[in-house]
Amino acid sequence: MGLADFTGKGCRVGGQILGAFRLLLLVAIFFACSSVANAADAPLVAKGYKMAGDATKMRIVMDFDREPDIKWFLLRGPNRLVIDLANSRLAIDAKDLKPRGLVKGVRLGEIGDGVSRLILTGKGPFAVDRLDVLKNEDGSGYRIAIDMSAASEREFDTALANQALTTGSTVSTDKGGRVGTGPVSNPGHRFTVVIDPGHGGIDGGAEGLNGTIEKNVTLAFATELRDKLAAIGKYDVFMTRDTDEYLRLDDRVRIARQHEADLLISIHADTISVKGIRGATVYTVSDKASDPQAQALADRENLSDQFAGMVIKDDNKEVTDILIDLIRRETHTFSMSFAHTLVGELSTSVGLINNPQRSAGFKVLKAPDVPSVLVELGYLSNAKDEAQLLNAEWRGKAAQSITNAVALFASARAGTGTGTGTGG
Ligand SMILES: [Zn+2]
Repeated sequence: MGLADFTGKGCRVGGQILGAFRLLLLVAIFFACSSVANAADAPLVAKGYKMAGDATKMRIVMDFDREPDIKWFLLRGPNRLVIDLANSRLAIDAKDLKPRGLVKGVRLGEIGDGVSRLILTGKGPFAVDRLDVLKNEDGSGYRIAIDMSAASEREFDTALANQALTTGSTVSTDKGGRVGTGPVSNPGHRFTVVIDPGHGGIDGGAEGLNGTIEKNVTLAFATELRDKLAAIGKYDVFMTRDTDEYLRLDDRVRIARQHEADLLISIHADTISVKGIRGATVYTVSDKASDPQAQALADRENLSDQFAGMVIKDDNKEVTDILIDLIRRETHTFSMSFAHTLVGELSTSVGLINNPQRSAGFKVLKAPDVPSVLVELGYLSNAKDEAQLLNAEWRGKAAQSITNAVALFASARAGTGTGTGTGG
């Protein structure tokens, strides 16, 4: 390359100016050499890196000047996706590599022999739904497109084991396809319920007429419900939080997927602007709200993410689109079925609102494969409801009704042979 010759000549002006001048010349000569060299030998150049998504679903796109030669594989402890790019020189703006959503760490560096390595560390276990090398339609080079979604440790381990089986090692040289392997049977899986106490930490939720804070009511109730469900001995029961901590809505969904939940029950006790309204309500997700009050409530609940202080507009739109695509019809049918059962059980023990089964676009109910409902136990804007929520006997009755509904739903799913996990 003649770089040594050039630096050897060094005009002895001295100081920083010379340093900067040298650097510029070196860069210029480097690029001159690159353009003269055979294009096939020149290192692959990355032209951009983009990540969009949330804690349940991410899309990562990396642009290159030509077709990249890649190897990729999974590593555990922590859960990582590793992509090696042969003969590459990847100068990417550090701010583009800032972790977000399901990806809590991004590292990019050279590992020798001209290979650059990209390591994406998951917030928890994940599935690689897609990893493709694609030609850009406008002829401007190639891109790697990766779709990742939150999954359980078991699913991650299965993907890892399958990877070793299909390649004879843990390295995949495929330029496309899915490592996640699709449905995986899971004979040891018990019917799993994830209970989500609404709000928490800096997000207090609604405040009652007499000062009751929603986040405390939801946690106390969820704990009682968990104990009742666990006492049956047939179900695995988890909570998204069991302390006063702030959790983003997508993290709540991620936790449900991590446990391969068969049911997510989000517990709330909000306020409502319409006077005199009281009683319990069961909500499922829908694109179009069942009524203006449901819409207003979902809008308010979805604001919870603002407490995270880093909501990025463009990403949100993209992710919303992905999520809406993914809400499977089957999941939705099960959500509706459970909501119906739950309303039936609650009606025998606690007061319900008019039309107690409602729907709106609640983010926390958008897991693609986990039937999900949101229960408003009552409204803190109503003094009688507030008093009930603080009454141990009332809470016990309400928790028992929900437990009964879960038992009915679980045995119905077991009866249809679909009660043994999200993979089935
Ligand atoms: Zn709430």
